[in-house]
Amino acid sequence: QNPVAKATCESVAAKVKANETTHVEKDIIDYAAYQKDGGYQLLKNCISGQRDVEAVIKTMEDSGLRGLGGAGFPAGRKWRIVRGEAGPRLMAVNIDEGEPGTFKDRYYLERDPHRFLEGMLIAAWAVGIETIYIYLRDEYHGCRAMLEAEVAKLRANPPISNMPEIHLRRGAGAYICGEESAMIESIEGKRGMPRLRPPYVAQVGLFGRPTLEHNFETLYWVREILEKGGEWFTSHGRNGRKGLRSYSVSGRVKNPGVKLAPAGVTIQELIDEYCGGMLDGHKLYAYLPGGASGGILPATMNDIPLDFDTLQPYGCFIGSAAVMVLSDKDTAVDAARNLMHFFKDESCGQCTPCRVGTAKAYDLINQPKWDLALLEDLSTVMRDASICGLGQAAPNPIDCVVKYFPQELA
Ligand code: SF4
Repeated sequence: QNPVAKATCESVAAKVKANETTHVEKDIIDYAAYQKDGGYQLLKNCISGQRDVEAVIKTMEDSGLRGLGGAGFPAGRKWRIVRGEAGPRLMAVNIDEGEPGTFKDRYYLERDPHRFLEGMLIAAWAVGIETIYIYLRDEYHGCRAMLEAEVAKLRANPPISNMPEIHLRRGAGAYICGEESAMIESIEGKRGMPRLRPPYVAQVGLFGRPTLEHNFETLYWVREILEKGGEWFTSHGRNGRKGLRSYSVSGRVKNPGVKLAPAGVTIQELIDEYCGGMLDGHKLYAYLPGGASGGILPATMNDIPLDFDTLQPYGCFIGSAAVMVLSDKDTAVDAARNLMHFFKDESCGQCTPCRVGTAKAYDLINQPKWDLALLEDLSTVMRDASICGLGQAAPNPIDCVVKYFPQELA
């Protein structure tokens, strides 16, 4: 209804219709440019035997690189586990990027797709993978056209013989398909619903085969880590943490965007050093450290290192590092309502605690007075009995409001 927003939407829609890849094509490092700059040499060295599989996996382990889709499982260890399973093995690459506030995968994909593709092919070589499925978010129209074109160039002029088969699959807009087993169901052509585990995807994954599942960004870092060494990656970090993180920062800051920063940076450091400070006239009031389900923290807790494992004691987590900044013009209650509405819509409906719980919680927090005892009860059931992370973490924003923003409920 806002005339400016409407005009912008119409103009973007017109551009997408006219040539949906325009903005992507002009900025990317394409196949030729990537090769000219030494790209795919590392992959060639791997295939020709100049790099040893064991040494490569060891470097990945030494780097401490963890799954950057949000789960944080150590990448090198995952390679070793899947390699230890009987073939044929498959790979599923998750570029569904549906977590609210997360846009880092798209940012890198639009600029340097072959860095990711080379990392993916190196992982396939190290783990012994025959077929790769890339699952791309449906809303990324431009990325899909670009990726189709770049993968076609790769197939037409492969840097190595015996390239694994690469399939590009479209998601269909379901948030839950970012969960690895739901994504696998979706790739198999079924309704995207998470599987019960065990068995784990590494053992029984896509089409019943051992599957290496990775987020886009995890594979994006493979080349640089193998070229510079595991210690290069661990030499970064702040406040006792190690590595680099791509924080997708949005909200009331001067310069939002993808900020490559040391793991463990605090929200205050991120805002001051990487985002040009808060917007004029806004004061930091609260922040979401990890997208929709990572919880909400108050400005007084602005000194917590943002990384895997550091936020759990506060009932929060970093997930895919989608950091949303709220100011004194926002409220945590509004944010919690918005997020619960999202979970209610996106619950896949498979299990009752989540399907019914998200709807019930949404109703309860839209009452003039929150029934705290009932909400606590509901939250416990959802955490304990939901099948997957969506239902288990959905109460996080509500719990945070109760714990950290009691003044809003008074
Ligand atoms: Fe589906 Fe929610 Fe159950 Fe996950 S927790 S399986 S999203 S209903």
